[in-house]
Amino acid sequence: MMKWIALFAALASGGAAMAQGKAEPPRWSIAIHGGAGTLERKDMTAEKDAAYRAALQAALDAGKSVLAKGGSSLDAVTAVVRVLEEDPKFNAGKGAVYTWEGTHELDAAIMDGRTRAAGAIAGVTTVRSPILLARKVMEDSPHVMLAGRGAEQFADEKGLELVPNSWFDTPERLDALERMKAKKLSALDVDLKFGTVGAVALDAKGNLAAATSTGGMTGKRWGRVGDAPLIGAGTYAENGTCAVSATGWGEYFIRVGVARTICARMSMKGESAQVAADATLADVAKLGGDGGVIVAGANGDVVFGIEAGGMYRARATSAGVNEVAIYRDE
Ligand code: ASP
Repeated sequence: MMKWIALFAALASGGAAMAQGKAEPPRWSIAIHGGAGTLERKDMTAEKDAAYRAALQAALDAGKSVLAKGGSSLDAVTAVVRVLEEDPKFNAGKGAVYTWEGTHELDAAIMDGRTRAAGAIAGVTTVRSPILLARKVMEDSPHVMLAGRGAEQFADEKGLELVPNSWFDTPERLDALERMKAKKLSALDVDLKFGTVGAVALDAKGNLAAATSTGGMTGKRWGRVGDAPLIGAGTYAENGTCAVSATGWGEYFIRVGVARTICARMSMKGESAQVAADATLADVAKLGGDGGVIVAGANGDVVFGIEAGGMYRARATSAGVNEVAIYRDE
């Protein structure tokens, strides 16, 4: 009898919440990106558009399946970024852009919102999965960031898969470098978009996480490192507030401290994820930069901020949301 009374009470209160239009917050949520930039319908073929959407859905599914099984946000963002690193369409892992010297230098970062533990790597040339190395730095070293040769040595000692630098080659990215040199163009002219990949998630235990992986910008030299591996610039996660992964013109994102600023606006000013993301990107634009962010809020919100023609992006929640989009107006 008590059981039936309890059940009735639960149904009645749920009904009341619905009557007042109060939807339950999602138990888990996830957002991903594959870079922002000059993405306009006129520049895309139907096949290319479909291929990018399928790739984004596949990556999103990898994260969704972790979260739906009660897995951690950390595992979900790692799974998404792994899929995108292996996909040559995106500027991370296989398909990374070329440096001025015709090689690849990869950057990545991951952050666990529970403890604000973080791991980052910069300028690695032979590690197949930069995000797995960043995670290793977080979980298996006393440091937050490792760069260059030392990071490679750490990867080797920890048994991560190493590949020749040419493994990251693709003809499209080589063509971009050659055009850049021949026509004295800037990275923005040849890349047309930033193809960095990233993911943010909130899991059913309320833990937030963020991950970002990139090849940087075409023609970079002198050991240039962008915002992606810098905690607080391109990547940040803090339980109770938000998780952010960015893509865009790294120099500006570093100067604004984009990811940390978004979370700070949310926690100190009480702004929503969308308001904080838009205001921070407006600041980037004021300095002359562009790009985009994905933000997961502690309340289950997953939002996109776009200060560019478009952003390869997708999001899903336990409440049944599943969206994939490219152009800014979608
Ligand atoms: N933010 C990256 C960088 O500056 C580029 C990108 O988003 O594609 O290295």
